[in-house]
Parts: sequence; structure tokens; C-alpha cells
Amino acid sequence: MPKIMTAGPTMVKDNVMKARSQAFTNPDLDMEFFDFYKDTCQLLSKAANTENQALILGGEGILGLEAACAALTEEGDRVLVVDNGIFGRGFEYFVKIYGGEVVFYESDYHKPVDVADLRKFLEKDSDFKYATFVHCDTPSGVINPITEMGQLFAEFGILTVVDTVAGIFGEEVYMDEAKIDILCGGSQKALSAPPGLTMMWLSEKAWNKIYERKIPIKAFYANVELFKDYYEKKAFPYTMPISDIMGLRVALENVLADKNIIERHRKIAEATRIALIQGGLKLYLESGWSNNVTAIELPLGVLDLELRNKMKDEFGIMISGSLGCLEGKVVRIGHMGENAYEDNVKETLEALQNSLEALGFSAKSNMAEAFTKAMK
Ligand SMILES: *Cc1c(COP(=O)(O)O)cnc(C)c1O
Repeated sequence: MPKIMTAGPTMVKDNVMKARSQAFTNPDLDMEFFDFYKDTCQLLSKAANTENQALILGGEGILGLEAACAALTEEGDRVLVVDNGIFGRGFEYFVKIYGGEVVFYESDYHKPVDVADLRKFLEKDSDFKYATFVHCDTPSGVINPITEMGQLFAEFGILTVVDTVAGIFGEEVYMDEAKIDILCGGSQKALSAPPGLTMMWLSEKAWNKIYERKIPIKAFYANVELFKDYYEKKAFPYTMPISDIMGLRVALENVLADKNIIERHRKIAEATRIALIQGGLKLYLESGWSNNVTAIELPLGVLDLELRNKMKDEFGIMISGSLGCLEGKVVRIGHMGENAYEDNVKETLEALQNSLEALGFSAKSNMAEAFTKAMK
């Protein structure tokens, strides 16, 4: 297997793999599972610095984005979709599926959302049921000011749906302070569990909006309301993927025990950028580089797939291409979760440099050495 130094899924620790292979009980019938699930959700609340209830849904991260929009959208609702990245713009689809009217707030993909500019926009038009935005928009790697944006929307009385699938655990999230109403996470990014689970955190305000709906949520699998009283009723809407959740629990314990995790991510990310720039490569972003993923512009004449195939086939390292309008223009190193260790990134930079040079690009300096130096 190659090393997956990608923007997700990320590499998974042995103790998580072991937990997933343990014997398991019947999660519909064994009351102990309800406690296990609830305790795991409480740890998730702790990780997001919130008193709000968390839920784990059986489905990859996209399920949470859809479920959030399904929960808050009623026919004809105006929804502000913050578009400063590919996942950001992508909320359009979920809002529309559930009957919402999308209004975009557009901003330059090369930098984070400018909160002062967003305020000006809202001063002219703030008649929105809710707004959607992405914490770390992975295709560019940009990190948005989640707390300031959440607080701004709250000030204008607008509910918020925030995708932190690729943010949380490598970047700090203070859900209560940021006044976010629905926060969405996934198992396969900085948490470093395999893909397959969605995490959602919902505020009281979000729950109240759900109860006030005139027409019930138009979904079943993507309906969070069906989870509301699971513990009291001792019933989930469908059988929970227990092995996945046993793995997630251990991944979460790993993360919570790692007191230095954000600083580890910050340092790795910074050293990665220094090394790439010294090597003569250009970062896609002008500012707002996340701790979790770095997007690198492909040098002239180097083709995306040629580079990535070479890295994978000759050096056993996978990195990511990108999506949408960035596809074929940038490649990305995912340095979050279990990927975020010095050896992994050093090896990735060596493979990148060797592959680039084989494809005709001459680096200005040794990137792995520059990285090691910057890590000191
Ligand atoms: C990974 C990710 C998701 C989940 O989407 P997949 O494409 O299915 O992996 C959602 N939002 C963001 C920002 C992500 O990085």
C-alpha cells in the first residue's frame, strides 16, 4: 500500500485498525452500545469546545452536509452560500435539492473570506434563513476565520451550517464561541479514521428550527431529527455501523490525548510551505494557508497525473490532485492527522522533488533538507 499523504483519507493508526477488527455486539439490542455511542458523542462535543449535542451518522462526510441542509431548508427559504472554494460553492446542490433559493457571496479563492467585506454584504442584504460556509476548503487548502464568521452571521440573526470536515482536529474549533448552529465533520481527515462516518453537532437553535418546520424533513437517511431521542428511546433509525464507531472512538481518544496536536499541525504546515517555496515552487494561496493541506501550483510543463503517478509508482507516496476549477492546476499534500509527522512529510518532499526533476523541473534547493531545518 502507498503512503496516503493526501487531503483525505489520511493514514490510520494501528490501534484504530485493531479496534475496528474486534468482536462486536448487536448495536440495536445491546443497551451498552447506546452508552458507548453517547459517551463517544460527548467526547466529540468536548473536541469541538461545545455544550451542544453531537451525533455520529453512518455515511461519509458528504452525508452531514446534505443532512444539515435537509434539516434547515424549507421550500422557498433564502440561503446564503459562501463561495470561496469548491466545497463552499458546492453547498448550492444540497440547498437546492431541499427547495431553498441560493444566493452566493463570492470571494477570491486565493485567500480566506474577508469578514469586513462580508459584513458590508450583509448590511445590504441579510434576509437569509441560514448561511453555509467551509472552515478548511480542501481543494485550495484555505482556512476561513470560522469564529469571526460565525459570530457575524449570529449578529445578523442568520443560522450557520459549517463544514469543518477537513478542519477540526488539525485546526481549532470553538463551536459555542463561534455561535455555529450545525457543524459537520468526517472521520477520514484530521481525525485519522477510515472514511465512512459523519459527525454533526447541532445547537439548541438548530433543533428548535427543526421542530418549528411546517413540513417534516424531506429525507430519511439524511434526517437528523430521527436521532434526537435515540438514547431515551433506545432506538436508532437504522443499525449503526458499530465497527466503524469502535474505530472512531479510539481515533478520538488518540486525538484528545495529544495535547500538542494543533501546534504539531501548525509547525508541520509552516515548514512544508517554507520548503516548497525554497525549492522554487509556488503555493496556490496568497494567504490563509491551513494547517491541514497545502496546495502547490504545478510548474509549467509538469502534468498533474504524470507527477502523481510517478510519486506513487516509484516512491510509494500518494498526494492529491484537486477538484473543479483547480483540477490539473494544483497538487496537494495532506499533512493532517497521522500524516502530520516529520518523517512522513520529509519523505513526501523527497519523492516530490525526485519526481519533479525526472519530469524536467529543476528545484532551487533540497526541499527535504529545508523542511528538516525549518522543523528545528
Ligand atoms: C473531504 C471533504 C468532504 C467530504 O467529501 P468527500 O469528497 O466525499 O471526501 C467535505 N468537505 C470538505 C471540506 C472535505 O475536505
